[in-house]
Amino acid sequence: MSKFLNSSFIFFWVEKFGSFRFFERCKNRNVPNEREKKKISKMLSVGLFFFCFCFPCQTAIKVSTFFRTRHYILLLTITTTAFGQIPLNPGVDTTDKELKAVYTLWTNYLISKPNKDNIKNSPYWAESEKIKYPKVDQLLNAINTETPTYSMGYPTILYMKSQNGFIEIKTLFGWSDSLKNIYALCITSVFAKKENGEYKLYNALTVNSYNWQIQKIGSLTFHFPLTHIFDKAKATILISSIDSLRKQWKLNSAPIDYYFADTYEEIQHLRGLDFAIGMGNKDKPSGISDQETNTVFAGGLGENYFHEVVHIYLNRLFPNSSLVEGLAVFYGGSIGHDLKWHLTRLNDYLNQHPEINLNDFEDFWYMDNFTNPNSTIQGLLCYLAYKNGGLDKLKQLMSYDDTIVAIEKEFGIKKDELNKFFREQINLNKN
Ligand SMILES: [Zn+2]
Repeated sequence: MSKFLNSSFIFFWVEKFGSFRFFERCKNRNVPNEREKKKISKMLSVGLFFFCFCFPCQTAIKVSTFFRTRHYILLLTITTTAFGQIPLNPGVDTTDKELKAVYTLWTNYLISKPNKDNIKNSPYWAESEKIKYPKVDQLLNAINTETPTYSMGYPTILYMKSQNGFIEIKTLFGWSDSLKNIYALCITSVFAKKENGEYKLYNALTVNSYNWQIQKIGSLTFHFPLTHIFDKAKATILISSIDSLRKQWKLNSAPIDYYFADTYEEIQHLRGLDFAIGMGNKDKPSGISDQETNTVFAGGLGENYFHEVVHIYLNRLFPNSSLVEGLAVFYGGSIGHDLKWHLTRLNDYLNQHPEINLNDFEDFWYMDNFTNPNSTIQGLLCYLAYKNGGLDKLKQLMSYDDTIVAIEKEFGIKKDELNKFFREQINLNKN
């Protein structure tokens, strides 16, 4: 996405913390000293936190043009060198004729540099997958909505195994630094099956969800693990929230596929991400929505993850707005808590940190693992607009593509007054 960063974070933290320059310095000495080791550790932890923080919602955080430009410069470095040959991890057997054919298929696909523009005509995918999924490859932009997953790291094929008529391929995408430390971005899972004598690719979602349960209520189709007992009361709350939203905004009902599980990691496994950077931290409700296919993937809130459904209904009304995440927080809260819960936590944090200058609030990314200060402030802006002028004022606020301009025009607050304004409003509107 052009306006939002959700996982170009690698390039963010690499650049932000100066690690390239740092690794350059270390290269000549081979072994980092203790201070430098701590610095690497800090870079990694911040990088991971940043990712965890952003990843749950594809429209989580806006990034400044300054950083975005620099990300893509760095990104290009990997993109242009990523695919010569796709290495096989030791132990993967390609003497088997069938496995070798699948290895060739997957390798050719990666070498073709799949992206949003060429994926629809990709000869490597089964026709049924192309019909089922407009984006064809469910993992192509599973980590970053603009950058193909396969361009974000160097691939190594780890595993190819025949089962239930498919051959599963697991691939590690990662990178190493000049100290030869290896870092993993993700481990993907994709399947291949023979059709008319030729192997074609299938999404993990297709194969892994074959034994999931399906429950259809109105326009919602719930998909959930076999072991889950469907909670109709929770689903009814979600449907009631959707009905209120539709009534208020005068919107038609949209058919939505709603995949949910107890944890977001289960959802990631379902989609074919056996590992993605950021996994392994404490579980918290997380979700992602795909507006093109009206699909929600949600973990941790069962049948009632309204935030992601709000994205499905309202994002398309404001394609240029920088505040769509705030709109979803305003209506649907975040990680299972409403806006006021997050405002209270943010207020406490700001009181403890008088040095934070909210004149530059768009650079205030991280507070802790639960409250996203940026999306909370966005949610506050939507709340204030609605409180002051109802739906018309909220729509007006959402019509801008620049948040600073929107605040000045709609609230009469200039950039150098934002710190005072936000601190006052956060305190006034908390629980
Ligand atoms: Zn969101």
